[in-house]
Amino acid sequence: MRRVLVTGAGSGIGREVARAFAAAGDSVTVAGRRAEALAETDGGRGMVCRVVDVTREDDVAALFDAPFDVVVANAGGGRAARLADTSLEAWNATLAVNLTGVFLTFRAALAAGMGPGGRLIAMASTASLKGGAAIAAYAAAKHGVLGLVRSVALEVARRGITCNAVCPGYVDTPLTGQAVAGVQARLGLSEQAARERVVSGNPMGRLIAPAEVAAAVLFLASPGAAPVNGHALAISGGET
Ligand code: NAD
Repeated sequence: MRRVLVTGAGSGIGREVARAFAAAGDSVTVAGRRAEALAETDGGRGMVCRVVDVTREDDVAALFDAPFDVVVANAGGGRAARLADTSLEAWNATLAVNLTGVFLTFRAALAAGMGPGGRLIAMASTASLKGGAAIAAYAAAKHGVLGLVRSVALEVARRGITCNAVCPGYVDTPLTGQAVAGVQARLGLSEQAARERVVSGNPMGRLIAPAEVAAAVLFLASPGAAPVNGHALAISGGET
């Protein structure tokens, strides 16, 4: 039975990924800031729930009392703002959770002794592959995640470990709800018009389902993905 860690697993994509690994029979640890949300993700599936802030070095290190076979650095998020309206505080907070959190998580995973067959998977974004108006801090952080992933992939390649990134377009989660609200406020649109604008970025004309992202993560964690390394897997309906 593989030991799997999913960060930011109290909602959205992380919740779905954690449940997919549990359904596959893996031993799953879910990590995040809110104990109740983690317990809801577990919902009696036997997951281990750990309250951590992934931007805190000590919190992250404490998660790795034993090595994990699969580590999904999923915690992330951010608020849309044009560059001129982005405070240094907001910039630093966005980089802390989306980029430094992945660095701390992967570094601790390797330091704990991840062995052959190990899988490091970062939840990146189509914002890792292209820019966008009013998301400079988020896109900079997510581009940084790809630089981290591609470099770590080369460091671990000879050890039978892989390091990859999943790059979803807009997914049907609370974070996308925030993005819709941001577009609505910035452009003075109705909720429906703002949602349509967000959805229209996907050539398939729909949001990605969290389960579709989870399926990609499970693929990268599967034995068949052993030679897939340093890859950015877009789950975006052709957006990128
Ligand atoms: P979400 O807000 O539902 O989930 C993010 C989770 O991360 C939340 O549970 C939150 O509490 C947790 N988190 C945030 N900061 C944390 C911290 N410092 N320590 C620990 N946990 C923390 O959003 P989501 O859509 O499920 O996002 C999950 C990941 O997918 C994020 O990295 C996000 O950037 C990425 N992503 C989302 C979309 C989308 O459209 N929703 C698209 C591409 C990438």
